[in-house]
Order: sequence, then C-alpha cells, then structure tokens
Amino acid sequence: MGLESHSSMFAPLPPRSDGRRNLVGLSKAEIHDAVLEMGESAFRAKQLWHWIYYRGVTDFEAMTNLAKPLRTRMAERFVIERPTVARALESFDGTRKWLLRLADGQEVEAVHIPEDDRGALCVSSQVGCTLNCRFCHTGTQRLVRNLEPAEIVGQAMLARDALNEWGIPHEDRRFTNIVMMGMGEPLYNYDNVAKALSILMDGDGFAMSKRRITLSTSGVVPMMRKCGEELDVNLAVSLHAARDDLRDELVPLNRKYPIAELLDACRSYPGTSNARRITFEYVMLKGVNDSAADARELVRRLDGLPAKVNLIPFNPWPGAPYECSTQDRIRVFAEILMNAGYSSPVRATRGQDIMAACGQLKSDSVRQRRRVIDKTAPEASSPDVSVPEGAPAELSQAQ
Ligand code: SAH
Ligand code: SF4
Repeated sequence: MGLESHSSMFAPLPPRSDGRRNLVGLSKAEIHDAVLEMGESAFRAKQLWHWIYYRGVTDFEAMTNLAKPLRTRMAERFVIERPTVARALESFDGTRKWLLRLADGQEVEAVHIPEDDRGALCVSSQVGCTLNCRFCHTGTQRLVRNLEPAEIVGQAMLARDALNEWGIPHEDRRFTNIVMMGMGEPLYNYDNVAKALSILMDGDGFAMSKRRITLSTSGVVPMMRKCGEELDVNLAVSLHAARDDLRDELVPLNRKYPIAELLDACRSYPGTSNARRITFEYVMLKGVNDSAADARELVRRLDGLPAKVNLIPFNPWPGAPYECSTQDRIRVFAEILMNAGYSSPVRATRGQDIMAACGQLKSDSVRQRRRVIDKTAPEASSPDVSVPEGAPAELSQAQ
C-alpha cells in the first residue's frame, strides 16, 4: 500500500458517550442535512452555520434568532466542541502555543505567531508524523494518527476564541493566516485536511481566504496536483537539500519521490505564477546543507520556477543530531539566492522561551507525565506509547 493512502488505515474516533454529535468538522452540506432531518428548514441550517463559524458560539442558548424549543432540541442532539487545552503558553514576543488534548488523550500543538499587521496560526494535521525527517522532533514521536476534520478546524476555532476575534472585521484581527506547518504531513491526511480547510474557507462562516492559507509538504508528489486543483491554497515545500544523496538522508521520503520529480510537480502545481510563487523551506544545518556550493546548486535546480526560499534557522531540540548554521553562513547563502533573483527571507526564530520547535511542547508534557508515572508506578508505561484502536503500531516504519 502506498504511503499516500495512509488516511484509510485509521479507524475513526468512537462516537461520544452521550450520543450527541459534534457539529464542528461537519461540512455545510452535512449540517444542512442534519437540520433537515430535524424537520427544520434550510434557512435554519444557514443560521446555525453562521452562529458556529462566524460568531464562534458554543452554546445553543446564545442563538437568539432560533426559537427556544429548537435550541433545546438542538442541544439534545448536538454539541459544538473544541479540543481541550492541556497547556497554554505565551512567549515574551507574543507567540502563543496551545497543547491540545484530544478525545482519546492524544496531544497536538497549535501555535499563533503574531506580526505587525497580521498573524499566522500553525496548525497540526496528525498526531506525530510517519516520515522521520532527521532534524524534526515530530518525526521522533512514535505514535501516529490522523487528525479528524473537527480536530483540525477546532485548532483554528480555539485560536479565535483565545484571541477574542469572532465576528470582528478582518483588518482588526491578529489571526489572519493559516499555515499547515504544525505536527504531521498534511498530504498524508489529505481528505480530513481538505474537509477542514473547505469549512474554514467558507465565505459565510470562518471565511479564511485561500490566499491566506499555506500548506506545507515534505514532498508527497502524487497528492500535490489534487491539492492545487481542489483547494487552490498556497504551497510550501520542505526541500532542505538540493542534492538527492543529502535529501535522502534529511527527508527520507526523497527516496520515494526524488528532487527532480518533486520539482516537476511544483512546476505543474495549479495556479503557480510570478504573482503566486511556491515557497521552498530550507532548514539551515551547520556544515550539512549550508555551503555556498549548496546555495548555487539550489539556484540551478530551481531555475525557471516561480519560487521563493524561506531559510529557517534550525530549531534545536534535546538529542538532535544537528546544530544551526552560523549567522554568517546563513547570510552568504541568502545572498547567493538573492543575487539569482530569489526572495530568500530568513525566518525569525519565535517563541524560543515556550519551546516553539515543532513537537517540543508535546514531548515535554509526555516527559513530565512519565516522571510522575515513574515516581508512582515504575512499571507503568507512558500513555504516549499506547496505540489507539485501528492505528498500526509499526506505521513509523511503513515507508
Ligand atoms: N510535514 C510538513 C509540515 C510540517 S513541518 C513538512 O514537512 O513540510 C513544517 C516545517 O518545519 C517544515 O519545513 C519542516 O522541515 C520544518 N522543521 C521541522 N523541524 C524543524 C526544526 N527543528 N527546526 C527548523 N525547522 C523545522
Ligand atoms: Fe513529518 Fe514534516 Fe517533521 Fe518531516 S518535517 S517528520 S514530514 S512533520
């Protein structure tokens, strides 16, 4: 079975014990059907959608333009639920990070990174990741499952709750963009990510414009065209090396979809033009991929592609086999790219004091729980290593 069909390998989460259904994560059509099944009109479905996704209401009682008996009937059948916040942290630079606890006890992270007149939410698509990129902390986490649409949409709703930005004009918001750059590989959970983004893009509700959404992939070539055709969101590609021998080592998926194939898929990504370039992410690893020769090779390979290159200083984590490149190396690398006509911003390191590197907060939480468990019951295993029903234990070796 190809890796791209992973999503079919996970059993859905069991229904809620009280039998009520979470409306978050249902498509507009599904909400419409659920309301019609109650004998109500399509207009009521529209109102409900507006309350959930424009106003951010979680209590049916607050839906004042619905008759009281209908609010009661809805509350008997449905809930409007976000993931639980296990920890919330705020950095001195305004970066906020939430560790979310899901219904089965698994945890994922969402991070809001504010800038002067905008701010992006970094959204996770999976618990862990199957792909084991050598510099990535998420890749070291053993347990993997796909997030449900409700768990993906829930991250955006929770950020809007925390920032208190429901129902306010776009220009007043600090959460203006979504980047699918959190934990996991979004193109290995394509169906759920696509459903979640379609919900968030709907103009009558959350109304996040597709121009403000960027999906980052490590290079799942067979899914890229579909993503462009169906979702039409901006694409970021985690390249990190311009030679196959090196990329094979850093991003093992390269052995399956090597650089030439990946760049061909980028060239034919729908909607790519100089006005809408593909972002290439390139993590700066000291003495590994950061020489002037590496930069020149990158320029050569990107030839003809409407591209910009995001240089990401490596964010170290305990036990990581790499260090971040020196400032000088990064500067020289960026200059070579700029002289060749590529915009090459160096991504500012944000939220250092709250462990903003992908996957770090979650691992810290697991370590703390492990410490507690170690003290009280030395033989007990960490909750992190239990595998939910339906998720193959050996998934991380599935490539
Ligand atoms: N799986 C997707 C999206 C999540 S990773 C992907 O790989 O693109 C988001 C970005 O963070 C990727 O470019 C990834 O390479 C980068 N990244 C992961 N760990 C990092 C680290 N420790 N320091 C800097 N960037 C890292
Ligand atoms: Fe997965 Fe992306 Fe991390 Fe690679 S960099 S292990 S694809 S989350």
